[in-house]
Amino acid sequence: MNLSKRFLVKPGKKVRLKDRDPEDSAGYGKKDRAKVEKLTEQNIRRLDELQYLLYAENRRSLLIVLQAMDAAGKDGTIRHVIRGLNPQGCTVTSFKKPSDEELDHDFLWRIHKAVPNKGDIGIFNRSHYEDVLVVRVHELVPKDVWAARYEQINRFEELLAENNVVIVKFFLHISKDEQLERFQDRLKDKDKHWKISPSDFGERKYWKEYQRAYEDALEKCSTKHAPWYVIPSNRKWFRNLAVSQILVETLESLQMSFPKPAFDISKIKVE
Ligand code: ATP
Ligand code: MG
Repeated sequence: MNLSKRFLVKPGKKVRLKDRDPEDSAGYGKKDRAKVEKLTEQNIRRLDELQYLLYAENRRSLLIVLQAMDAAGKDGTIRHVIRGLNPQGCTVTSFKKPSDEELDHDFLWRIHKAVPNKGDIGIFNRSHYEDVLVVRVHELVPKDVWAARYEQINRFEELLAENNVVIVKFFLHISKDEQLERFQDRLKDKDKHWKISPSDFGERKYWKEYQRAYEDALEKCSTKHAPWYVIPSNRKWFRNLAVSQILVETLESLQMSFPKPAFDISKIKVE
């Protein structure tokens, strides 16, 4: 099944998150969990081969953007899906509250610096989209400033794409109830206390505002060169399948091949 098509936000289409079921698992039920995990393992192995090709080609890079509400599984996705990759060709950048120095520049300054090198895969754990999400919800800058950013983001991503950066953006979609359950799990388990902060509950009060801000970001910034995918993420095992499979499908669509040597191999003498 082609999951890229199923979860793609079609450029120009209206997005209503309410119409996208966070429980969706493309027909796989709880009883299929083992099968789904096996498929995910296969994808992870295939990703390793594709990363090797990307690295050998050294012509383009892959940028994976992960955005989600708290506890939706950004860290879990990185841990489960990216673990099969060779660390040598892979970077993960987490974007937190901007520093004073970062705030002294345009909002894309810190982002551009973290874009992966040719041949590499870069993962953004949060990204420039925070500048139209948390910044919008909490009015950290005036409306005309954040409102202009969608177009700025599109132009920035277009520039990257024209310079051989392949961009894939995932929104991990969970329900409000699922978030509460995960928070409660974290509260119950001493080993998970480090994962919770009072601000998580504060942000939860703005759920609706965040969903609206996400809808706008998904709608305005899903483009042919930098598509958004809405991944149903209430079921972690399905989320891992969907993300790993869309990554495989994206890399396979590049039809990469090993570069031809710049010299005549037959003339090399092995002595
Ligand atoms: P976890 O999900 O594991 O808690 P996290 O990504 O939430 O990890 P935190 O240190 O808890 O990491 O939070 C980072 C915070 O930084 C988030 O609240 C996020 O909204 C905020 N942030 C990121 N980028 C910006 C930005 N450009 N402006 C303002 N706040 C930002
Ligand atoms: Mg947090």
